[in-house]
Amino acid sequence: HQKAVFILHDQLNLDAWPSRVREEKPLLIFIESAKKGNSLPYHKKKLIYLLSSMRHFALECADAGFPVLYHSTEKHYDEGLKDILSQNPGLELTYMTPSEWDSRERLRQVQSAYEERVQEIPNNFFLADAEEYKEKVADGWVMEYFYREMRRKTGYLMNGDQPEGGEWNYDEENREKLPKGHRIPEIAETEVDDVTREVIDMVEDWFPDHFGKSEDFTYAVTRRQALYRLNEFIDERLDEFGPYEDAMAHGEYDLFHSHLSLYMNNGLILPKEACDKAEEAYEKGSARLNSVEGFIRQIIGWREYVRIYYEGMMPEVRDVNHFNFTKKLPEMYWTGETKMNCMSECLKPVIEKGFSHHIPRLMVLSNFSNLTETDPRELNRWFHLAYVDAYEWVVLPNVLGMSTFADGGVLASKPYVSSGNYINKMSDYCKHCEYKISKKTGDDACPFNYLYWNFIDKQRETFTQNGRANFMVNMFDKKSEEDKKAIWESSEEFIDRLH
Ligand code: FAD
Ligand code: SF4
Repeated sequence: HQKAVFILHDQLNLDAWPSRVREEKPLLIFIESAKKGNSLPYHKKKLIYLLSSMRHFALECADAGFPVLYHSTEKHYDEGLKDILSQNPGLELTYMTPSEWDSRERLRQVQSAYEERVQEIPNNFFLADAEEYKEKVADGWVMEYFYREMRRKTGYLMNGDQPEGGEWNYDEENREKLPKGHRIPEIAETEVDDVTREVIDMVEDWFPDHFGKSEDFTYAVTRRQALYRLNEFIDERLDEFGPYEDAMAHGEYDLFHSHLSLYMNNGLILPKEACDKAEEAYEKGSARLNSVEGFIRQIIGWREYVRIYYEGMMPEVRDVNHFNFTKKLPEMYWTGETKMNCMSECLKPVIEKGFSHHIPRLMVLSNFSNLTETDPRELNRWFHLAYVDAYEWVVLPNVLGMSTFADGGVLASKPYVSSGNYINKMSDYCKHCEYKISKKTGDDACPFNYLYWNFIDKQRETFTQNGRANFMVNMFDKKSEEDKKAIWESSEEFIDRLH
């Protein structure tokens, strides 16, 4: 009998596996599946990142003395694994619960076909136990309370049972616009090595029509390279992460964000490592409290919370569509072509490298999709295939729960929609735009301005049910009939032209 472990493309870190795996050195099985790669027209850089990371990891394991079986197949994982199991009758296989629903279903089918020889162990790449919280979260338990529990459990930024500095959350201090000429440190780029070069050729060969380009691939693909980026973030950007967390700037795509989600989501970096280092920087006095608290909250709060939401809400949540929007995703999400400067600036890094930070995703790309009555599931599909850090467990809650309110308010208390004012306040985009931010309606007015009021009016039922947002409906109702008519007309014309 030979012991074997199947490692999925987002489980690339032996520290998260039981110690017996590190000690006993079983056969490690990796599968490159063309069917999985083709299940959506994933961004080429995403496929390159995932496959190159997995190949590098397998090579490192082999160097460390593990027997490795690296299997490339046209089929899906489950079929590939079944082939391996039937060809190797002595093999006893362990796999870790996949973070994504479909892979989980597939592997469980393998498990039931080979019950005696296949064992599932719990996923250990997250900090919280989803079973403990999933019912509460699906019932609307808010992130902030979950976060406080996680602070107490992990001990991050705690003095006894009190939060460091006296407050749990310093977001009030984290809403500054980027001052003109403010220096932003550059993020290191990783050179393409032979392994990645081979993957790039393969992706071009296997997935030629997928979204995005394979040129100029600069992501880290090994743990060592990813740790370098973590350290670089802690040393150079963490201190100013907080104040400029919500800012956006023309021609600047990452600002002071960590750009680490892709590395945490496939295991190259563990979330605990990122939080430990951030806390250490605060203790040393090299990063301010509102930045470190904000960063740790994103990881032990939001990241864990959305994953638990996924566990509690699947699979029904895939179909939610609170506003019953049916329009297709506007063409510009694929081409990046539009006269709206904010949309063009926020789409550029997605098309070029499969990435953008949180505010462009939430307050520009999702906001616009929602205001133009796009089917939220179309938007979710786009985020899933376009972003290098997207896996269903994290993208779905963020899109269908947070950004589009498609779940009807389980995750978010109100829809995240805004007029052009918000974008103008947090960025310099409007200065470079053909539309006029100061105009409310008409051909050259900022489309966000009238679309926003149109949305408030059309979706008034949702807003009036929410005390905090009800006043927006009242504000609309106080507008003159002439203004209301202009809002409706501009919106109808714009949405018709768009779709
Ligand atoms: P930072 O701003 O440096 O934050 C630090 C870390 O916190 C991130 O690396 C990430 O791991 C975590 N984090 C922060 N916010 C969230 C959140 N809302 N949910 C989960 N983790 C969070 N994140 C993904 O990892 N994959 C996705 O596919 C994804 N899709 C999103 C779609 C939409 C519409 C929105 C609004 C958000 C989405 N997010 C997603 C969350 C967030 O935008 C990204 O995690 C973040 O922008 C990644 O950049 P960063 O590493 O520089 O983050
Ligand atoms: Fe975007 Fe409107 Fe500003 Fe143009 S004017 S950048 S469309 S918010």
